Amino acid sequence: MDLKIFDRMESEVRGYIRSFPVIFNQARGSLLIDEDGTEYIDFFSGAGTLNYGHNNPLFKSELLEYLAADGVVHGLDMATSAKKRFLQTVDEVLLRPRKWRYTLQFTGPTGTNAVEAALKIARQVKGRPNIISFTHGFHGVSGGSLGATANAKFRDAAGYALGNTTFMPYDGYFGPDVDTMAYMEKMLDDPSSGMDKSAAVIVETVQGEGGVNVATLRWLKELEKVCRRHDMLLIVDDIQVGCGRTGSFFSFESAGIQPDIITLSKSLSGFGLPMSLVLMKPELDVWKPGAHSGTFRGNNLAFVTAAAALRTYWSDDAFTLDVQRKERLVRDWLENLAHSYPGSGLAVRGRGLIQGLVSTATPELANAIARKAFERGVVIETSGAHDEVLKFLPALTIEDELLQRGLDAIEASVADALTESGHSARILKFGGKR
Ligand SMILES: *Cc1c(COP(=O)(O)O)cnc(C)c1O
Repeated sequence: MDLKIFDRMESEVRGYIRSFPVIFNQARGSLLIDEDGTEYIDFFSGAGTLNYGHNNPLFKSELLEYLAADGVVHGLDMATSAKKRFLQTVDEVLLRPRKWRYTLQFTGPTGTNAVEAALKIARQVKGRPNIISFTHGFHGVSGGSLGATANAKFRDAAGYALGNTTFMPYDGYFGPDVDTMAYMEKMLDDPSSGMDKSAAVIVETVQGEGGVNVATLRWLKELEKVCRRHDMLLIVDDIQVGCGRTGSFFSFESAGIQPDIITLSKSLSGFGLPMSLVLMKPELDVWKPGAHSGTFRGNNLAFVTAAAALRTYWSDDAFTLDVQRKERLVRDWLENLAHSYPGSGLAVRGRGLIQGLVSTATPELANAIARKAFERGVVIETSGAHDEVLKFLPALTIEDELLQRGLDAIEASVADALTESGHSARILKFGGKR
């Protein structure tokens, strides 16, 4: 496929085009179709932006009707009918059933803008500049968010010193035997630990970009307690693993914690339309009118599809149960695969429909598998500090048949990549679950 115009005109900064060097032309559900008509099964979902698939027909019709009726498309933060319906839907579907009280702030449409707002609120409310973030955390690439993002590739691009953040070890950072929350609390308790008092802690319950690292529910509960004991706000960045990725709408629900601030974006609009939201406890709303602005805070097309997505999938627990069923399917399949290659060092981790096949011993294996998978028609990415984790992020709505076809292509790619890397392709099938 002729990619010359992209090479000639676009900055070197381009990324995913290098992993998937074709020209995509159409997308439907869990399929991406290139200009030659070749179909690819999407196990990437726009890094978690397409939880309900591409062009979901359940909301596409509403979007088309809204446009046909000349509904407001751009509205700054003015009141519009689409925004009213979205607010009503959040109240009815998300907040009231849970008996939660949160004030909503619409920010510029990227996730990083929601994080910027969350950090500003926390710093204003507590009057302290410092924030605690975690190793391998990813919160976006604009100034404030970048300060809380751990990856050196992104930090080095800033060109100035990033500060006002202390990084603490995430759950499992030193292996299963070290309680990193006990370590953090010891640092906070000790007035001579050298650690500045912080306004807030920002955390992902499952680190998406950081390599599918999963915080245990116990660790998250403990984190909430530590925040309360040390007068710090708890910010859950649910931009990647919220909106149903782990089964429930919010990723922290199974931990039973109540964050002070929640950031949402990626799959919030349900349609791949840009939109971001901050939920804050009402008493934290210290904003002066207009103090955090943004031209594109009112993407009304996103409000239309976001409300439709909430009503369609989150009015009862049927969708959650289906995501949990698919989680078991993918998880069993991955564990079976890892067991089939004893000595390969492959391991599995994840929660819900974000699962990682981890190759710590030979990090390059993950990228080799991803490349071979693409040749076999599957779009899948790697993540982690050394790109050592093959990250499974199918649409939550993927049909079982496509899911299975994608997994079969991955299995063949794993076999190829292992054979090429000299690993004996001795296959021991366990359990016959596949
Ligand atoms: C993607 C992501 C962001 C940043 O969102 P952008 O829209 O790329 O700015 C922030 N936090 C998490 C957890 C993310 O996955």
